[in-house]
Amino acid sequence: MRSHTVILGAGATIAAIPNGDRNGKYSSVMNGLFENLGLSSLLDGIDLNTKSRNIEDIYSELSTKHEYKDVVQQLEKHLYDYFASLELPEEPTIYDLLILSLTKNDVIATFNWDPLLIQAYVRCHEITDNLPHVFCLHGNVAVGYCNAHKEFGVNDTVCPECGDKLRPLNLLYPIANKEYNSNDYIKGCWEATQYILENSYMLTIFGYSAPKSDIAAMNLLRNAWGSPYSRQLEEVSIIDILEEDEVTMKWSDFIYSHHYRYSKDFFSSYLGMFPRRSCETVFATKQLNFPPESNMGFRDGMTWCEIEEFLNDILFEETQTIDGKNYPLYYVKKNRNK
Ligand SMILES: [Zn+2]
Repeated sequence: MRSHTVILGAGATIAAIPNGDRNGKYSSVMNGLFENLGLSSLLDGIDLNTKSRNIEDIYSELSTKHEYKDVVQQLEKHLYDYFASLELPEEPTIYDLLILSLTKNDVIATFNWDPLLIQAYVRCHEITDNLPHVFCLHGNVAVGYCNAHKEFGVNDTVCPECGDKLRPLNLLYPIANKEYNSNDYIKGCWEATQYILENSYMLTIFGYSAPKSDIAAMNLLRNAWGSPYSRQLEEVSIIDILEEDEVTMKWSDFIYSHHYRYSKDFFSSYLGMFPRRSCETVFATKQLNFPPESNMGFRDGMTWCEIEEFLNDILFEETQTIDGKNYPLYYVKKNRNK
């Protein structure tokens, strides 16, 4: 079975911690960030052309002016430290379920800097090591890198080659002309994401609004996915709180005819309904006319115990499947399957 690629934007992190993180902090600080983080004094005496209070606009302008180099550096440090301070709540979040809804055949490519997805990965790894690859397209505060050996991993761990502590990644800050080739880790993430996207059967876009400053990113994704006419069998899934018309318009270059599913929340998406078998189930129902069982998946409010119990059989089936073979169908009407 081909892969399921998931693209994550800021909306996904907001969905993961709707009531704030473990310490009540929120990720949605980009609008009004200076006020929210008490940084207004950084801008004292600086005459900005933009009247916007959005960090993206302010950062873009400051970064083009050499005289504000120090201000830009301080701003970057504050942003890095703020995101690095976020912590997942103890109970399972949408990020945990997202990680557990995919397997090693799949990829999550995230635009987010916050560490929550990586933290979810680390704790879900205690349940299974058959987990998706995670690529951080704009860098991430929880990922470290060894330049010499091109190894990456969770911050604070060591390079398996040289044993040196992995170094924090430089984040790609919000300017219009982002340099995706400026560092090896980010360049590698883009190459891997493009390769997997080309070879994906399903694409899910979760909470990513494709802002103006990401035109280059959208082009890279569009080129990798190719024309929707060459994607007549594939399925696109969009999870977003924005209205259906608005998001399908934004992603129309990726969608062939009516081959998409729109949902406002994770639980009614293919990932939530058919965890770990989304490609298999959608292929079986669309191409082979198997009726799906769509109320067997993850449910809102599941505890860690309930999640582990739910995954028991499905993880066992995976261990019994020879590498390279398809996993057995799970979410189809059983009488039909026999
Ligand atoms: Zn190394």
